[in-house]
Amino acid sequence: MAVTYLKTALPRPDAENSDIHDIVAIMLSNIAREGEDAVRRYAEKLDGWTGNFVLSDDERKAACDRVPEQIKDDIRFAHANIRRFAEAQMSTISECEIEVMPGLIAGQRQIPISSAGCYVPGGRYSHIASALMTITTAKVAGVPHITAVSPPRPGLGIPDAIIFAMDLSGADLILNLGGVQGIAAMAHGLFGARPADILVGPGNSYVAEAKRMLFGKVGIDMFAGPTDSLVIADHTASVETVAWDLVSQAEHGVDSPVWLVCTDKALAQGVIARADTLIDTLPEPNAAAARTAWRDRAEVILCDTREEAAKVADEYAPEHLQVIAEDLDWWLNRLTAYGSLFLGAETTVPFGDKTSGPNHVLPTSGAARYTGGLSVHKFTKTVTWQRCTPQTSHELAQRTARISRMEGMEGHARAAEMRLISV
Ligand code: NAD
Repeated sequence: MAVTYLKTALPRPDAENSDIHDIVAIMLSNIAREGEDAVRRYAEKLDGWTGNFVLSDDERKAACDRVPEQIKDDIRFAHANIRRFAEAQMSTISECEIEVMPGLIAGQRQIPISSAGCYVPGGRYSHIASALMTITTAKVAGVPHITAVSPPRPGLGIPDAIIFAMDLSGADLILNLGGVQGIAAMAHGLFGARPADILVGPGNSYVAEAKRMLFGKVGIDMFAGPTDSLVIADHTASVETVAWDLVSQAEHGVDSPVWLVCTDKALAQGVIARADTLIDTLPEPNAAAARTAWRDRAEVILCDTREEAAKVADEYAPEHLQVIAEDLDWWLNRLTAYGSLFLGAETTVPFGDKTSGPNHVLPTSGAARYTGGLSVHKFTKTVTWQRCTPQTSHELAQRTARISRMEGMEGHARAAEMRLISV
């Protein structure tokens, strides 16, 4: 297989072996022990926040009133698309009931999770769309209690447009809290929140690690940390489009990898030559973040064939995968590891990030090998039930008792045999 690296990146950081793991472990343990006092301390230290944590109805309304009409209209447009897509997903969630053998009926039910904690990132940018993506999807799935948190800006609180998006999507409680302390407050049910049964939403490495460490006590959607993106392009792609698609994703932060897998050398070289110039046109601090991400985390890989390019993409298992190449159906059928796929030059990852409908909370750091993104399925428990007639109970009892004794489980055997006497 002929694969040439025209630009290489530093190795992907491993959160489990980094300082981040230790910092988050200490924070979570302090919050578990001291509760709201520890949360207050971290909110002040990390986000400069000394105000109220619970957003009152009046504050919610005032924030919504301050959002310009055009932005409200755009947010409503995005919300409608996201809700429509989530509603379509609901139609794929099914219950069933079958007679497994004569006299034994078993079935599957779908039960919404009772309470969700939605994290809306807000350190570097105001991630309005993350509020829509998480809360709307939980709401459509039928989750009855939804708490939403986002980092407050010192002296100001959560940006108004994020509050509008949280309100529109149906958040029951909004807390002025970000980072590990926001995640932990939802998990432990602090500040009047219903303890979350599932924590969802993207965030930086601290947020992603906090969710990972709380998994078990609560459910989580997936490992959704710093964004990563891969573009596959052939000779039909334009240098300018591909370069912008990569630079726009590098804008997320210094730890956001972007990869180009290309079957055309001139295109690959053109993108490498163009990226720095495009980054220089961005405002600061976006340009600084994109510059570092491009320098340290970007890779440009040249492949001889499209089959090789597909193989490389599958190995990276990127969060976002954009294809600008001939024969889009071939790519749709061939590619197997990504969070969300964007086919053709007419669409772009920012559409998916903000407005088009499919969820933008997606697996990062290779997690797309084993999971897709946030969907109504993550908020729904697939549970099973069974019942049987007295005659069938007798047959199951004898067979179950024999298997149980073979396993050394005498208690199980006796419980099964009780059915021979009492049923
Ligand atoms: P964020 O809200 O995730 O994190 C900000 C919080 O981090 C702050 O409130 C602070 O409490 C905490 N923090 C900062 N420094 C800390 C430290 N030294 N110790 C402990 N806590 C600390 O916002 P962000 O930082 O802008 O990151 C957003 C992230 O979300 C980006 O990495 C972006 O790529 C990612 N993202 C991912 C997806 C996805 O689906 N995977 C989608 C959108 C955004």
